[in-house]
Amino acid sequence: MIRIERIRADIEALRAFTATPGAGVTRLSFSPQEGQARRYLLTEMERAGLAVREHPSGCLLGRLAGKNPGRPAVLTGSHYDTVHNGGAFDGVCGLVAALEMARSMREDGYFPSNPVEIVGFLEEEGTRFGYGLLCSAALLGLIPAEELAALRDDDGVTFADAAAACGLSLADLPAEVLRPDDLKAFVELHIEQGPVLEQYRREIGVVDCIAAMCFGQVTVCGRADHAGTTPTELRLDAMRGAVEVIGRFYEAAGQLGGGVVATVGKLVVHPGSANVVPDRVVFSVDYRCRDGGLVKRMRELLLEALEALKALGLSYQYEDGGVLPAVQMDARIMASIEEEAARLGYSSMRLPSGAGHDAMNLAEACPVGMIFLPSAGGRSHCPEENTGWEEIAKGARVLEAVVKRLCES
Ligand SMILES: [Zn+2]
Repeated sequence: MIRIERIRADIEALRAFTATPGAGVTRLSFSPQEGQARRYLLTEMERAGLAVREHPSGCLLGRLAGKNPGRPAVLTGSHYDTVHNGGAFDGVCGLVAALEMARSMREDGYFPSNPVEIVGFLEEEGTRFGYGLLCSAALLGLIPAEELAALRDDDGVTFADAAAACGLSLADLPAEVLRPDDLKAFVELHIEQGPVLEQYRREIGVVDCIAAMCFGQVTVCGRADHAGTTPTELRLDAMRGAVEVIGRFYEAAGQLGGGVVATVGKLVVHPGSANVVPDRVVFSVDYRCRDGGLVKRMRELLLEALEALKALGLSYQYEDGGVLPAVQMDARIMASIEEEAARLGYSSMRLPSGAGHDAMNLAEACPVGMIFLPSAGGRSHCPEENTGWEEIAKGARVLEAVVKRLCES
């Protein structure tokens, strides 16, 4: 049976492993706080009767072998790294729910037909090495071991050295990579990190897809001049151009509709003096939509706006990260989540995820499903992040039922 007090104890224990006490949870991959969380999780997984291992990718794994240890496993879990000054529920909620599911299965004497494996991912946020969903990619061999090893944090420490300090050897990674044959399915429970479930008063979110997304960086170039002596018509003001492009970028999102979201979250002005005409403005663009076609259309409209800068005598550079296609969740797993939620008496609704998740990588290897839980006020990646204990317990009950169905089907 899923027990709410154990879920609470786990989340409160993990919340204390932070580099910023009193200012949210800051737990970077391979940091001392992550080491504390790792020891806690390994101990609890062992207590739950799981065979645990620290995978060379940095992931924690705990296995309930069941009746047929050679069969592909049903994998479930989430990440336990955080952003700077983040919340106690992002990622951790899904890992703790999976852990509580394992305890419940053991107490109930449940012996699955397919193995059940619990996973704790690191570097999902990309906070330390600047590369999101990193350890799940490494777990599946989606990033070459040499490339992974050479990634550096802001202090110049490589991933390989940071992992080695935790006793992990990347030399072992290629042989230990999980293959599609090893996996029957992956189910991830996660907080919504947005306001939709709360708005519609639903207890369980059934993710139908993870949105297509594109990230880029724009540099608008002009010429620095005196702010008082240079007549407007003789200026090459990079800020004038940037404002034009940003305005058209937001307008494009509004006009396209279809749930497109566009964000300019970072903007740097050079040389950055109040009395100098800017010669360079650098800003980020982030645009997402469940419809990949609309993301591509957004990019076309952005490029048109950038081309129009030439008429103002300005130039530009655009670094584009490429469009990450939308990832569809498995139809049978979505139906299972809905049916099990209904059987347990919980309301549910389908919704897309605008945030990226490790489930995107797992979808390369096996059928994938995601369960969302309401986020109070839609807040996330901040100390105020909150999801009620009872709500997490409901999610864990649905997760347990769905994992059992996958094991026995
Ligand atoms: Zn997360």
